[in-house]
Amino acid sequence: MTKTDRPSAVTARHRHALRRAYELMRARFGHQHWWPGETPFEVCVGAILTQNTAWTNVERAMANLKAAHVLEPARLFALSESRLADLIRPAGYFNVKARRLRSFLRVLVEDFGGDLKRLFAGETATVRARLLAINGVGPETADSMLLYAGGHHSFVIDAYTRRIFQRHNWSSKPARLRSATARPAVQSSKSLDSYDDLKSFCEAGLNQKTGAAQLDHWQDYHAQLVMVGKHFCRTRAPRCEQCPLKPLLP
Ligand code: SF4
Repeated sequence: MTKTDRPSAVTARHRHALRRAYELMRARFGHQHWWPGETPFEVCVGAILTQNTAWTNVERAMANLKAAHVLEPARLFALSESRLADLIRPAGYFNVKARRLRSFLRVLVEDFGGDLKRLFAGETATVRARLLAINGVGPETADSMLLYAGGHHSFVIDAYTRRIFQRHNWSSKPARLRSATARPAVQSSKSLDSYDDLKSFCEAGLNQKTGAAQLDHWQDYHAQLVMVGKHFCRTRAPRCEQCPLKPLLP
């Protein structure tokens, strides 16, 4: 990391913008009560299945697992990889995801007796490293598991978050503001935050609450960003006129 690339501190302007963004999103969408999943185990399975696919496809794969009565750690791990791949076919990339699911299940079942509470026990950084060591569990998947299944305060960054933050110049990197135009600004790749930069930036900017209140806030904050990303902040032709975050455009 060069000196000029080094993340800058979260400023009062950032804190105000992030807080105001939540108020605007929450007023439009209401509390999202995320993540969809009836149990922490379902949340973990969903976090792997949702990689590179829409949630509606994950729901169809989950329905297959439920119908087969295997949505439980030991039973799911007892399936052959090919049978598992067959069941999760609607989620796409089913062979890769079957392998990744089995890697996760192997650790959960063999190292932690199939007990998610044991897998999630410990300091957030320790548990995060434990998850990241599993083949096929990247930062976004690990943070989704931590935040929505493990009760850990670990903010999730996804493509929607990145796009919205870039277009609003909310970044740990020095802002490269352009004057307000009809089209939201897109920063050059040199000014982009890494996953961990943006995660640290969000966690530092959204640290006004503590305990269960902060956990709920971070869970719902990510869910609100997903709503904005899905319905307004599209890759091409963002719908800024209708978007709740329009008042915060630079
Ligand atoms: S669509 Fe919304 S979030 Fe995206 S740039 Fe426009 S106002 Fe911002």
